[in-house]
Amino acid sequence: MKDVQVPLNRFERFSDVIDPAQFERYLVAAERMRTRFEGRIVWNINTTDAGGGVAEMLRSLIAYVRGFGIDSRWAVMEASDEFFRITKRLHHALHGSAGDGTPLDDKARRVYDEAMRANAGELLARVRPRDVVLVHDPQPAGLTNSLIRAGALVVWRCHIGHDKPNAEVEAGWSFLNPYLKDVPAMVFSRNAYIPSELDGDRASIITPSVDAFSPKNQELDEETVHSILVHVGIVEGPDGDALKFTRQDGSPARVDRQADVVRLGRPPSFETPLVVQVSRWDPLKDPVGVMHGFGHLVEEGRAGDAHLVLAGPNVQAIADDPEGGEVLDSVIAEWRRLPHAVRQRVHIVCLPMADFEENAAIVNALQRHATIIVQKSLHEGFGLTVTEAMWKGRAVVATAVGGIQDQIDDGVDGLLLQDPSDLEAFSGILGRLLEDDALRAKLGENARRKVRDVFLGVHQLIRHGRLIECLDEAHEECGRPDVFTREVMQKNCCNLTL
Ligand code: UDP
Repeated sequence: MKDVQVPLNRFERFSDVIDPAQFERYLVAAERMRTRFEGRIVWNINTTDAGGGVAEMLRSLIAYVRGFGIDSRWAVMEASDEFFRITKRLHHALHGSAGDGTPLDDKARRVYDEAMRANAGELLARVRPRDVVLVHDPQPAGLTNSLIRAGALVVWRCHIGHDKPNAEVEAGWSFLNPYLKDVPAMVFSRNAYIPSELDGDRASIITPSVDAFSPKNQELDEETVHSILVHVGIVEGPDGDALKFTRQDGSPARVDRQADVVRLGRPPSFETPLVVQVSRWDPLKDPVGVMHGFGHLVEEGRAGDAHLVLAGPNVQAIADDPEGGEVLDSVIAEWRRLPHAVRQRVHIVCLPMADFEENAAIVNALQRHATIIVQKSLHEGFGLTVTEAMWKGRAVVATAVGGIQDQIDDGVDGLLLQDPSDLEAFSGILGRLLEDDALRAKLGENARRKVRDVFLGVHQLIRHGRLIECLDEAHEECGRPDVFTREVMQKNCCNLTL
């Protein structure tokens, strides 16, 4: 087990962004938690402290909990390559795909159990009875039984899932079920992700969130947006020197590195309307579909002056994602086949990754500058890029898949493409939105309000807090923290919203 150090952040900062009456209620709830959990620790266990949405969210949320005076810690499980191969296979299965096609059989279970035994010993030496342990995702799920036996209050938080269960999804859950049967509380990101084999009474829905103050989402004025985008080479214009952003720990920093861009001729000007998709280079994000849909619009003469930017991480920097490089190559190959008139308006941008916070600041500037943000995923767990764009008041066009459906109310705070494979409908929606300034402004304004009211970190924190409080009350009522507390949980947790 490896400890991850998380700096403190002020919970009170949220008073600047959310409704004051709601903030007051949250403050009361947080105070209640601080009193109830005095002398106890709220642990978070997962398998990585960098890369991916879960690590990003934990780093931010734990900092606010600690800043409020509740002792919260983060420990990362360590295991063999073979363990991670098996859990990657499991991860794919829960997303409905076969991954490397290997079986989730007894041999795989032995490797999994052995990693649990090795990590549980170390963890149990530190977790005390009545500490809270939030176990994130399938990889460490097998730790739950020993933690429950040791008297901890255990919540299993599942960040993944699939809308339409198939044989793979079922195989994944059959593998995991033995580890989850005694867990009193589980959290999923959406209702459709709760597997039918699991008893839904123990499950709560808490949606992911974004951090309003992180380098990815903090306010940037127009001068800074301009300077960053010119500096990295995404747009053309006079160099500015407003390249500053604030790191997560509050220290100042600046954007130094530049992007690696594939384009024909010059960059677009700062005034050129940009349609932007920011994503990992992954076929499920359908960058090629975005390119063809936009191309269709250009050929129909409905794109106005707009250009398309497909942005993603620099693949050379991510040694453990060989698929990223292959997908980027295929996007570039497809770009080369586009007619000249389309190609000159499509820019493929790889963002520097050496400093994750610098990368985040560039994404921030690009999202703020975009006229339209697209997320044309074929499948999506939640879709944080959508939340990030909505928080920045952008007009979003996204596919009606996974968690995107929980974020966008079609026509109110974004536009949804019902069939991800329908390129004609996609370019029709894009064209309509490019032509309608008032609609973009209305969607953007509503989107920002939606994120403020539902998808900021503070909401996620308070909902988890309420759940943990219910769990603690339930354990108190039972008198024995090691018994299965489903009925009591059900009674106490009937209303998780504040
Ligand atoms: N992202 C980033 N830099 C990039 C590309 C993506 O920081 O070059 C971020 C993006 O802003 C978002 C996350 O990666 O925060 C992707 O999360 P999402 O839920 O959209 O998709 P996932 O990659 O988890 O499938």
